Amino acid sequence: MAARSAPLFMAHLRTAAVPTARRCLLRSFAPVPRVSFARNGIRCLSSTAPRRSAFAVNDLTQVFHDVAPLRKFRRELLLNNRTVGLVPTMGALHEGHISLVRKAAEENTDVWVTIYVNPTQFGLNEDLASYPKTWETDMEMLRHLDRQLAREGKGRVSAVFAPNTNTMYPTSPPDSSIPGVGSFIEMRPLGQLLEGASRPVFFRGVATVCMKLFNICEPDVVYFGQKDAQQTVVIKKLVKDFHLNTRVRICETSREPDGLALSSRNVYLGERRRAVAIVLNQALRKAEAQYIAGKRLRGDILWPAVDHGDRIQHEQENLQPSKRALFQVDYLSLADPDTMEEIDKVDETKGAILSGAVKMMPVEEPQEGEQLGLGGGQVAVRLIDNIVLQPTR
Ligand code: AMP
Repeated sequence: MAARSAPLFMAHLRTAAVPTARRCLLRSFAPVPRVSFARNGIRCLSSTAPRRSAFAVNDLTQVFHDVAPLRKFRRELLLNNRTVGLVPTMGALHEGHISLVRKAAEENTDVWVTIYVNPTQFGLNEDLASYPKTWETDMEMLRHLDRQLAREGKGRVSAVFAPNTNTMYPTSPPDSSIPGVGSFIEMRPLGQLLEGASRPVFFRGVATVCMKLFNICEPDVVYFGQKDAQQTVVIKKLVKDFHLNTRVRICETSREPDGLALSSRNVYLGERRRAVAIVLNQALRKAEAQYIAGKRLRGDILWPAVDHGDRIQHEQENLQPSKRALFQVDYLSLADPDTMEEIDKVDETKGAILSGAVKMMPVEEPQEGEQLGLGGGQVAVRLIDNIVLQPTR
């Protein structure tokens, strides 16, 4: 692995985003960039400097598949007073993931990205096998981003953790059945509501894999997207209820220009379904407009969203099968932001979460030359979205 050049290294350290304590150390030691190599080949500044000031630096994003070497790297970073922001993902990276990495790089010296498609959060009949896997492109995106971060003097993507399933589930094979065999984290009733009602093992899998990842990586801060609203509540609860020594940061949802939330699953949509898939965001925006107009009661807020969904559904049903994109609305919800339980009225001191899920059905009568997306338009695509209704008092 090539060593990072000294000017680049110093530029990296000059960042305003570097925590205050570290900046003090930099001022003390920046004039003596005597380079030495630690046992593990990690380059350090000045062998005579106190250990806390010996910043471990690697040129390239390191890829780890096993726990022990990652833990060793984590110890080095800790001893060098560096902070780790963790971005857990299932790969198939897009700008939404990248925005999380960017936020983590603004607030930490090191960003670690995990790429692992966790089997226990997929039900037995769900799309685990067809979940998009794009390892090479993901790594290229992360390396490109890391070069940009270096130029900007931000924190760096120093590790990608991509374990296999034996590593993540060391004593028993992952089980997606109910009740299932294995060691799981369950949250009741939160894990059974909304997404959990449609996908009964989903949050058990999410909470369990995140507990594992947090224990392995010991991040200072974990970064999650608002795109998965209920997941953010699960993660906050996980950290609080199990006294995990990390902070949770939620980053805003990245969207296409028309408002569609970016998702790894969008690659399955194709042209025809993509045009209709915006229905969910449109419906939620109509409900949001009611809240902004001063409505606080559930019925008053939700009815235009339900109405919009129904109208677009009828429009599609009345088209020729060769032209239409059918969908099913799974739910439209107005929920308490802390519990995700349905509410009859918005408490203005807390606000609420408007959320929904639709299932885009397989394309009927695909046409010659039609752009059908990955899977030829035959994979049903479940889309979720949400809008935070901010407290007004
Ligand atoms: P996933 O790979 O889908 O499990 O997502 C990994 C992380 O990226 C989660 O914290 C998601 O909430 C977040 N994420 C996914 N899509 C978006 C998006 N469009 N905007 C912001 N964050 C996102």
